[in-house]
Amino acid sequence: MDAAIPSDAKSARVGSLGYLTRLTALAVVYVAVSKLGLMLDAVGGVATLVWPATGISLVALSELGLTLWPGVAIGAFVVNLWVGAPVVLAATIAVGNTLEAVIGAYALRRLAPSDYWLERLMGVTSLILLSAGLSTAVSATVGTVGLLMVRRISIDDFSFAWRVWWLGDAVSDLIVAPALVAWRAWPLRRTGTRRSLEGVAVALATALAALAFFEPRSVLTHAPIGPYLLFPPLIWAAFRFGPRAVANLTLFAAVAAVCGTAIGLGPFAIGSLPQRLLPLQAFMAMFSATGLLLAAAVAERKRAEAEAREAVRARDEFLSIASHELKTPVTSLQLQLAALGAKLKADPSSANVPAKMQSILRQARRLAELIDNLLDVSRIASRRLDLTFEEVDFAALVKDVAVRAEEVVTQAGSRLELSLNGPVWGYWDKQRLHQVVDNLLSNAVKYGAGKPIEISLQPGANAVVLRVRDQGIGISTEDQERIFQRFVRAVSPRHYGGFGLGLWIARQIVEELGGRIGVTSEANQGSTFTVSLPYQQPGQKIQSDSFGKWSQ
Ligand code: ADP
Repeated sequence: MDAAIPSDAKSARVGSLGYLTRLTALAVVYVAVSKLGLMLDAVGGVATLVWPATGISLVALSELGLTLWPGVAIGAFVVNLWVGAPVVLAATIAVGNTLEAVIGAYALRRLAPSDYWLERLMGVTSLILLSAGLSTAVSATVGTVGLLMVRRISIDDFSFAWRVWWLGDAVSDLIVAPALVAWRAWPLRRTGTRRSLEGVAVALATALAALAFFEPRSVLTHAPIGPYLLFPPLIWAAFRFGPRAVANLTLFAAVAAVCGTAIGLGPFAIGSLPQRLLPLQAFMAMFSATGLLLAAAVAERKRAEAEAREAVRARDEFLSIASHELKTPVTSLQLQLAALGAKLKADPSSANVPAKMQSILRQARRLAELIDNLLDVSRIASRRLDLTFEEVDFAALVKDVAVRAEEVVTQAGSRLELSLNGPVWGYWDKQRLHQVVDNLLSNAVKYGAGKPIEISLQPGANAVVLRVRDQGIGISTEDQERIFQRFVRAVSPRHYGGFGLGLWIARQIVEELGGRIGVTSEANQGSTFTVSLPYQQPGQKIQSDSFGKWSQ
């Protein structure tokens, strides 16, 4: 079952000592907290509105792996036997409760795989609808049908018992589980004095609201308005302190409200204990769901704002680098043209026109390349990187790139070694493939410290592999994944020019051709860039989802 769950580094191997310890701990905690809940006048002896075990199981299975399910099953079976349920009933309830934990945890991990699911609307919505709403209905149905079958309840009591069971479990998922997830992040980050004082103020406001909760007649309305007073501190916590504060505040309010109501205080203290706790827990469920949704929405907005700020910062930095990069060849062009003009004016026959023209053309080409890169960014952003497929000899293409680069390679004091095993025919976009190889070779020259560069092409059965190896400055392990992102550079702009776009564009092209690009490198030991490309057939639809990854 775990295979369908996003990879979970925290889950222990089934049967290992770590696994057995966790399983036993879960079963023991389950029994202990359930015994407490069952002391509160349980309907049919087993259905209660205070059932922390549901929230604990949800967190245990979603955080530590679904394979811990036997801990829930054993815990539920033992505690029900302990309070006098016949074996058949205890086993039936254990099945229902285990299904509840597995379904709830599975849904949570599937829809909200992030560790910070409390900070995501998707995570909280999944908790409310699927874990608290749906999975608990399974346990309530299995359990109350079991009670009916062993005649612990009559058919007339069925609806009430079902509602008690379902709501008790749902509230546990909505209040106990978020608090446990919030505690997991303990200890909290250090905060400034002002923020700590504000935190104390929220805690005090919550404590006052919890006291007012039990006030039978408010001074203002002469009617109980206590429960509403809990909302201002909740909203305050959601906006200023986030989901973890909301989860803690809600748990505190719930414990205070349940204890007070159980001893007969406050607006819900009418009728038997289950009759009192049913509306109270319905209120607490709404209260928690409101707070968690609000806090997740605020957290998402804050994250989006931070991302937008970062994007603006990256754009500004890019604009300044881009203007600098574009200015260099333009200035050089201007100077060379001015010098050529002056020489021609002084003595039309003395100027070495062809040599100067070569140099001017080189600068113009560099300028055109930079502008092409900028155009590619906007093409990719608007998804207009149209590929034109044709039959291409990859080996001849690499040779062509190498010949064109000969001059720059020599200027850099480097040497090129080709091992091409050609011809290598395939169906690709020639111009774009040229761009990829050219980019990798230019980088090898730029960052290759004047040492030899090797390019090899290895045709395989399904794909051809291109390797470009230099022996230059290399790339640290942390930077190796980053450099394929847009605008990311791992060198100082003072020492090396560039936009930080070449590899990003190369990756988009390679992925669009159905292939992969990667690097292996060590700082100061050189780098090897590898492109693996499947041979495409004419008319074949390329399987690539790279368009979805363009944001970064
Ligand atoms: P640019 O070279 O214009 O900065 P690229 O996208 O081509 O942009 O490369 C991104 C970064 O990757 C470079 O800034 C550099 O830090 C690193 N890099 C790329 N190729 C090499 C290489 N062959 N050796 C060392 N670092 C490299």
